[in-house]
Amino acid sequence: MIKLYNSLTNKIEEFKTIKDNEVMMYVCGPTVYSNIHIGNSRPVIFFDTVSRFFKYVGYKVTYVSNFTDIDDKIIKRAKEEGVSEKEISEKYIREISNTYKRLNCLPHDVNPKVTESIDEIINFIKDLVDKDCAYVVDGDVYFDVSKAKNYGILSGQSIDNLIKGARIEQNEKKKNPIDFTLWKKTDEGIQWDSPWGMGRPGWHTECVVMINDIFHGPIDIHGGGLDLKFPHHDNEIAQAVCQYDNQIANYWMHNGRINFDGEKMSKSLGNVLWANDLLDKVPFQVYRLMILNVPYRQPLNYKDDLLQQASNDYEKIKRAYISLFRCLEVEKKALGKKEVQKDELVNLKNEFIEAMSNDFNTANAITVVFQLVKVVNNYVRDKNIDVKDLQEALQLFDEFLWVLGIETNLQELTSEEKEIVSKWQEARNLKDFAKADELRKIINERNILI
Ligand SMILES: [Zn+2]
Repeated sequence: MIKLYNSLTNKIEEFKTIKDNEVMMYVCGPTVYSNIHIGNSRPVIFFDTVSRFFKYVGYKVTYVSNFTDIDDKIIKRAKEEGVSEKEISEKYIREISNTYKRLNCLPHDVNPKVTESIDEIINFIKDLVDKDCAYVVDGDVYFDVSKAKNYGILSGQSIDNLIKGARIEQNEKKKNPIDFTLWKKTDEGIQWDSPWGMGRPGWHTECVVMINDIFHGPIDIHGGGLDLKFPHHDNEIAQAVCQYDNQIANYWMHNGRINFDGEKMSKSLGNVLWANDLLDKVPFQVYRLMILNVPYRQPLNYKDDLLQQASNDYEKIKRAYISLFRCLEVEKKALGKKEVQKDELVNLKNEFIEAMSNDFNTANAITVVFQLVKVVNNYVRDKNIDVKDLQEALQLFDEFLWVLGIETNLQELTSEEKEIVSKWQEARNLKDFAKADELRKIINERNILI
């Protein structure tokens, strides 16, 4: 049984899918006017791990994440660089997709874009106006929050409190200060024709429309960073309640933010750490371990120590993995006599699944990986172990690393390389250290990982 924390109810709940054995998941993607920074990469890595785990335990997963390719920031950027919005958004979609790959994320099933959904968005807004949930003022269209049942349900705020807390806006067109824009009249930047004149959609409508286009109804999980909970996700729910009489998703999941040495990371503070810059410094496995070492709902405070810790962790995992892999490749321990404790690996597998089934506790899952590392190191040292046990351990190791997205991608040795390694091991066993040193030198020169 998988349990997860549902931000909609603020409770740990048993996860039940709408369709049998199938998970429908949507995570809000980036606005494409720059590449992603480490804060944006946390949901990318975390929800990739979630989808991997669902697949591992046998679900079919449809994982959708959008690209917001219409936004004031994109228009501003295009103006600054003297190019079209399309050129800016296409450039960053390419770059961000490449960063997703560098982070070893499995490809999403669909990456919908706002510019490809304009007709659907206009029709959706039209329906909201017809239903009297939205109103038109001088070519702008606003959503009337007083028409949505339980507005603010996700962030747990009432309309009255929200209005009290809202900054007084210089916008007298709105009926309530917290009404939000569905369609914005504009004569600047990219724009489309609509029943209300030339303009472009506001940010909060795209996800609702694209989810419905792709899934044709409510989904299981809607995810994103904590910053999106209000107003973005509450506004998504409000529109879906008025339009479809549902709350989009049965489970809402939000990851905590990433701070930079105790401070909020922001471009104005100049402490933004770009995902690509970090990936130039460390392998993706270290990056992912650093993110997954902290349970996803907790804030993550980025410090060099944290990266160092993840780097040490990965080194230990990698060493154990390589020695097991090479042991099977080279040492040919076909005739083991020793019985290992049979349940050892089965228990570890169960513990790993249990950790992940408990609101995707990746930190505990990594602890189980280290228990496996210990077992593997013992197996490799044990001259009498059966080859089948080694194979089973390797299989389990592969499974754990795959779920966390930290596969080592170790290549098999060529027969010549195997020969060198096996001679080196022989020399070591015979305590012929001069010969062993000589062979070790060749191994190092050829960059053979053992
Ligand atoms: Zn969204």
